[in-house]
Amino acid sequence: MTTTTASKAFVRISDIPSEAERLGIRPGPSKPAFLALISLWQGDITTLEVDAIVNAADEALLGGGGVDGAIHRAAGAQLLEACRAHHGCKTGQAKITPGFNLPAKHVIHTVGPIGEKPDLLASAYRESLSLAKANGVHTIAFPCISAGVFGYPAESACKVAVHTVAKWTNENPGSIDRVVFCLFNQKSVHVYEEEIKRFLKKEQGEQE
Ligand code: ADP
Repeated sequence: MTTTTASKAFVRISDIPSEAERLGIRPGPSKPAFLALISLWQGDITTLEVDAIVNAADEALLGGGGVDGAIHRAAGAQLLEACRAHHGCKTGQAKITPGFNLPAKHVIHTVGPIGEKPDLLASAYRESLSLAKANGVHTIAFPCISAGVFGYPAESACKVAVHTVAKWTNENPGSIDRVVFCLFNQKSVHVYEEEIKRFLKKEQGEQE
């Protein structure tokens, strides 16, 4: 069901199918449980009614363009105040604030690398998930960190995102119920769908 305020429709996590549901796969011994934990969803991250949305911020944490600008606009001026109190964030690290006017309870601000630096991108995903776990967040949505203005090629950024989230959720069972990969455009949807297919093939190959 979709709830609305005067200006915007919010989307609940219960409205978004998991990848297992979307693909009609029952997780089992030979089907990765990971698929029941993730969703691919196309749209504006600021509309998601989840425990936390992740912001692809820069080190100053003072807002900017792209998804960062959209999140600050939707959350309101208090978000900037809360960010200021953190005095920035290093690349690969993460900080948390309330969501203020957003439907999400929290915003986790992380800084991805400029350009293709897989270790730093993986760190941004891991640190965000660890901060989520420490704050009782069970549902979380990620944008395609670094894949916009920061220039990380979409396919390789997606691979890092999927594999890092898979590894982290495997190592931290029961802490996160759903990770939504929030995809802003059709190209991102295609890239993620292809990566999930490759991921599945690889997992199934390893189990045979
Ligand atoms: P970065 O500086 O980390 O590259 P950008 O904001 O430039 O961050 O882009 C990151 C990704 O976020 C891109 O794929 C872009 O299309 C996407 N994006 C932009 N606005 C939104 C939004 N409102 N919701 C979700 N994703 C968004």
